[in-house]
Amino acid sequence: MGRVITGVRPTGDLSIANYVGAMKPIVELQDTYEGSVNVFVADVHGLTDQEPELISRMRIDTMRSLLASGIDPERINVYLQSQIESQTDVVASYLDRHISTAELLRVPTLKDKAKKDQGVETLNVSLLRYPVLMAADIFMQDADEVPVGQDQYPHIEVARVLARRFNREYGDGSEIIVVPNVMAVEGLRIAALDGGGKMSKSNPKGAIFLKDPIDSIGSKIGKAKTAAAGEMNETLESHFTLSRELSKTQDQRDALDRLYDAHLDGHNVMGSFKSLMTELVSGFLAEFQANYDQISDEQVVDLLEVGGVKANEQADLVLGRVRKAMKFV
Ligand code: ATP
Ligand code: MG
Repeated sequence: MGRVITGVRPTGDLSIANYVGAMKPIVELQDTYEGSVNVFVADVHGLTDQEPELISRMRIDTMRSLLASGIDPERINVYLQSQIESQTDVVASYLDRHISTAELLRVPTLKDKAKKDQGVETLNVSLLRYPVLMAADIFMQDADEVPVGQDQYPHIEVARVLARRFNREYGDGSEIIVVPNVMAVEGLRIAALDGGGKMSKSNPKGAIFLKDPIDSIGSKIGKAKTAAAGEMNETLESHFTLSRELSKTQDQRDALDRLYDAHLDGHNVMGSFKSLMTELVSGFLAEFQANYDQISDEQVVDLLEVGGVKANEQADLVLGRVRKAMKFV
């Protein structure tokens, strides 16, 4: 039976891009999927580029937002990455010797973390090791499918390489570490409203947050970058995708298709598109915020206690298997 995992860093309030890229695929499969589904808040990963004070303040709230976006704790195991930190760290350190510094320096996401004129070599070691720790997160739950946005694909590729290398080295023909796949959802990369790269929760400019006041959405989207009639760019394309993802009815999807075609035919429809996008985003946010208000932090802490126990059981199993294969017990 399959096992799915996904994680979100508690680096700020969740954005609508986090929802469509990572949470929506889980919400859609949770009622039908027969295997185990795991959703964790990646607090240790947050420390790569944020202060511990922010991360410890945000982690319960991030899980609360995940639950409010439709994650059902009856079906899904929820935990914090730090709850299984000791096992994950050990496995990550065993993986370290199977990847070179040069390979990690080539991971394209690392360059995004460097400021202009800053060489990647000057970044802290945890940023360099990010893909190794992320691989260990996935391996600790024996996950074979990982729904993530397109920005995470290079990390999943590192995890696949590491799993294969580990199995070749110690597996004696068998799979000690499960080789993970990106879950087959359309490659999603929602652009920031202002067109400045991808929408990120740690870059408030250009992001729509799930907790944004509903009456602010119209003016935020009103200022979004579009394209001249008859032309298309990545930003506008991704905002059509976002709107499609948030559509609930066939009528809404048909209206979006008509606007898309009319725009490509050279008609001026950006005003109408922005109105429809505002309606779709506001509708989703209203639902999310009503759910969020129904959940208390205490409830989240209780759920994490239960989820942490399960995550630990599985992590102990994996660590034991890894050590045995390495004959390092
Ligand atoms: P940060 O700025 O702290 O890195 P983030 O918004 O990039 O925040 P992450 O915690 O890094 O969020 O990632 C959580 C999930 O959201 C991942 O699965 C990631 O692929 C997805 N995601 C993040 N940004 C986007 C985006 N712009 N489009 C689609 N999916 C996204
Ligand atoms: Mg990110």
